[in-house]
Amino acid sequence: MAKYKHIKIPADGKPITVKKGKLSIPNFPIIPVIEGDGIGRDIMKATRRVVDAAVEKTYQGKRRIAWMDVYAGEKAFELYGEWLPKETVAAIRSHIVALKGPLTTPIGGGFRSLNVSMRQLMNLYACVRPVKWFRGVGSPVTHPEKLNVVIFRENTEDVYAGIEWKKGTKEVKKVINWLNKNMGTSVRTDSGVGVKPISVTGTRRLVRKAIKYAIEKKLPSVTLVHKGNIMKYTEGFFKDIGYKVATTEFRSKVVTEEELWDKYNGKMPKGKLLIKDRIADSMFQQVLLRPDEYSVVATPNLNGDYLSDACAAQVGGLGMAPGANIGDYIGLFEATHGTAPKYADKDVINPSSVILSAVMMLDYLGWGKAGERIEKAIQKTIDKKTVTYDLHRQMKGARKIGTSEFATQIIKNMG
Ligand code: NAP
Repeated sequence: MAKYKHIKIPADGKPITVKKGKLSIPNFPIIPVIEGDGIGRDIMKATRRVVDAAVEKTYQGKRRIAWMDVYAGEKAFELYGEWLPKETVAAIRSHIVALKGPLTTPIGGGFRSLNVSMRQLMNLYACVRPVKWFRGVGSPVTHPEKLNVVIFRENTEDVYAGIEWKKGTKEVKKVINWLNKNMGTSVRTDSGVGVKPISVTGTRRLVRKAIKYAIEKKLPSVTLVHKGNIMKYTEGFFKDIGYKVATTEFRSKVVTEEELWDKYNGKMPKGKLLIKDRIADSMFQQVLLRPDEYSVVATPNLNGDYLSDACAAQVGGLGMAPGANIGDYIGLFEATHGTAPKYADKDVINPSSVILSAVMMLDYLGWGKAGERIEKAIQKTIDKKTVTYDLHRQMKGARKIGTSEFATQIIKNMG
């Protein structure tokens, strides 16, 4: 077993491994956990209590998570003098599944963002964000229950690849001169310039993951969301590769929207997965006007970033928005929100986003029954109108409770 400087390996746990291309999950898996900065301290404590209780109630001691604290952000800086210690990345890599709280991005720490660095270092190419409504949560739309989507956002390329040059620099001048001289463009010399790479490799693995997920969960459709009418060789390329993956790797299981009308007269054959595509701007209307026509969404990085927040707003906002960054095997489960410093250590923030990320993690482990138990208990807690401040301000007649009390209520409501 690996030796670490500050990480203590729990004696009663075993690491998750990969066997014959599949995760092998022991009954007491070691799960690295980054508590996170700011509100991370409150929400991670609450989350661990809820997850432990659900696993205990579901498997009665036969299964248990052996949490292993690993460090990033402020705590890591205190311990190691580094924001993202190598042993943290190594521990997550070798234990495969991890849970993470939000991290402050150090100003002048040499990082674009700790989160982006982690995704890149571990090649976590799919950002997976399920968005669904819990009954009773305030929403700006009339039928929030109609939205139930899982967004697969490409995590490693697009304009997020970090290839850009500042206006006026020697580098940007070189790029602009080269483009204007050799490529027949007329980029203004007072421009900043960024590059938007979309590759076959990046798109193929993302779309493949989205389709596999939809098939496994018996979901009705995968929608490729792109802006290919304008950016033909990047976003349009994403769409083309997406269809190619669907119709070559999953031919017997899928029907494209074109085939649906050409061959099946608009009537979806039973047991098949529909593959369709939508232009990004139209998709923002669709999720508001016809949300129930969408299920799994696969999209490049920037569209996915915008779309997942817009969808989260329809179901009650950031406090209810879970997520995960997943590679071929490694899964780093985390909420989509940040450290909300003004609420740090006040025991007021909504822990549901990290709790629901942990529900995704349990599902990833194949412990979906424990996850379902948590979801039901959250629903029951909201039904009883005992909620944190963010939900309280959108609900009539509710009682406002703190983070730790909310976790206690969820545990009580587990049945
Ligand atoms: P933020 O931390 O996401 O918070 C913005 C607002 O969202 C909060 O003030 C609060 O709104 C609401 N909110 C966030 N989490 C909530 C929760 N669990 N329950 C209820 N409401 C919640 O965004 P920020 O203030 O822009 O960013 C702060 C720091 O976090 C920055 O250093 C940023 O770099 C970092 N960050 C980290 C991650 C990550 O680790 N994945 C992601 C994003 C940002 P109200 O004030 O309206 O109540």
